Amino acid sequence: MTDLEKLKEVALACGFSHVGNLDVDTVQVRIEVRDACAVDKCHAYNKNWVCPPACGTLEECESTMRKYKMGLILQTTGELEDSFDIEGMEELQKNHSQNMHDFTDKAKELYPNSLVLGDSACRYCKDCTYPDAPCRFPNRQSPAMEAYGMVVSDVCRDNDIPYYYGPGTLTYVGCILVE
Ligand code: SF4
Repeated sequence: MTDLEKLKEVALACGFSHVGNLDVDTVQVRIEVRDACAVDKCHAYNKNWVCPPACGTLEECESTMRKYKMGLILQTTGELEDSFDIEGMEELQKNHSQNMHDFTDKAKELYPNSLVLGDSACRYCKDCTYPDAPCRFPNRQSPAMEAYGMVVSDVCRDNDIPYYYGPGTLTYVGCILVE
């Protein structure tokens, strides 16, 4: 069993619904995705160490990302009662965050230099220290895939893993890049 396959087993044990291989060469970085951060729909812009502007320019983020060659896509899929099921969406996002948190702890033991990217601002701590104090856990933080200019659905498509699992479902996505 390869190290990546072992990591995949770790990810599934942490609760992710689906895990697929990620070839970093397939990832395209889009400036418009990164520019959307400043619109602040997710209320994280300038509020977290791993979000713009603190995370550095898109070019700097891409340069970091291109040091890696492969990784895993990590998905948490759930079913909603209907498209207005906000409670269900929040519960699913909470589950995904917990999966990411548990997985990050375990993955960093196997790959200390890996890069973990999530679906939003880093939620490793209840409250981010930004900007008043340094990051509490620099080796555990997880930037959003969008902060790296990634279109999440494209990353899934280009790596042959579904993003949509049918009517009434919702999927949160993260990834890990390893050297
Ligand atoms: S690990 Fe904590 S302090 Fe560091 S970016 Fe994440 S939430 Fe903020």
